[in-house]
Amino acid sequence: MSDDLKKDIRTLTVEELESFFEQKGEKAFRGRQVYEWLYKNSCTSFDEMTSLSLELRKLLNRHFALYPIRLVSEQVSDDGTVKQAYRLHDDHLIEGVLIPAGRRMTACISSQAGCALGCGFCATGFMGLKRNLEAAEIYDQVVLLNRLAVQKYDHPLSNIVLMGMGEPLLNYAGVMQAVEWITSEKGLGMSSGRITLSTAGIAKMIRRLADDQVKIRLALSLHACDDEKRSTLMPINRSNNLKAVKESLIYFHRASGNRITLEYILFGGFNDTEEDARNLVRFASHFPCKVNLIEYNPVAGAHYVRPELPQMKRFKAILEKKGLTVHLRRSRGRDIDAACGQLATREGNKK
Ligand code: SF4
Repeated sequence: MSDDLKKDIRTLTVEELESFFEQKGEKAFRGRQVYEWLYKNSCTSFDEMTSLSLELRKLLNRHFALYPIRLVSEQVSDDGTVKQAYRLHDDHLIEGVLIPAGRRMTACISSQAGCALGCGFCATGFMGLKRNLEAAEIYDQVVLLNRLAVQKYDHPLSNIVLMGMGEPLLNYAGVMQAVEWITSEKGLGMSSGRITLSTAGIAKMIRRLADDQVKIRLALSLHACDDEKRSTLMPINRSNNLKAVKESLIYFHRASGNRITLEYILFGGFNDTEEDARNLVRFASHFPCKVNLIEYNPVAGAHYVRPELPQMKRFKAILEKKGLTVHLRRSRGRDIDAACGQLATREGNKK
């Protein structure tokens, strides 16, 4: 039987693993053992499950397969940012990024191969959507980037941001399952408060996060605070306009008590005027939040340009004068393909 025809063992719950072993005349606890090998020890082959007899490992091999993501290329920036491209078992490419800043080690991970939302500034948006990632493929990125952080910087991951390829709220089940494996004591045991999900603004799904009492933090990719400009940048704004998104954020904040992060990429001459800053102040006045101003890192095929530093500082000053907490982030990994989707696009073009 070829691996392609075998069921991915990481689509089974712990209960399903237990009942698999019971049906084979084995003890149910074997299922919990396998679960631990998969999510606590991050095994990528049955041979690594050394507390199982050779016979049990063969049994697993006959019925299931593991489809880990494979590292295919890596770029290291002068500022220490490392971008990795991974190949999925069906040949699609995704990306993960490790961003070191002192003892803070942030992994930026993908939730989809490609993206359907087509934001006009994003290399991933130009690819279109290939497919949702399996929960295991999201989890694998965290494992690989954590290993890299320890090897290269002698420090494990401190933060995870779902801000790579794809819209995480359009792969809700996959993302939530991965978060469970990353945060649960039966998995990697990382703190949910260290995970941030960044969305382009799917109002209905933001409300669902609140209703499901999901403990992770939320960031909105805002980038413009009038509907016309935002719809030009982000077509999703036509169906989820600023009012709908704002109301969903108020709802989320009431349910979670969490402060929201507003991500605002500054595009030179497009959304960096004083009026844009005042619009942002107004939008941010509805719920506790902090604002990350991010310098645009141009990608091939997009028509936007990097903003001037003095303009960025003026913009920041207007927000601060109104009492907002603001961080100005210069682009990381400027000398590599660090913007979302660039490295995967380059790897894909090699084929
Ligand atoms: Fe998709 Fe995010 Fe790129 Fe927009 S910015 S196209 S939501 S990956």
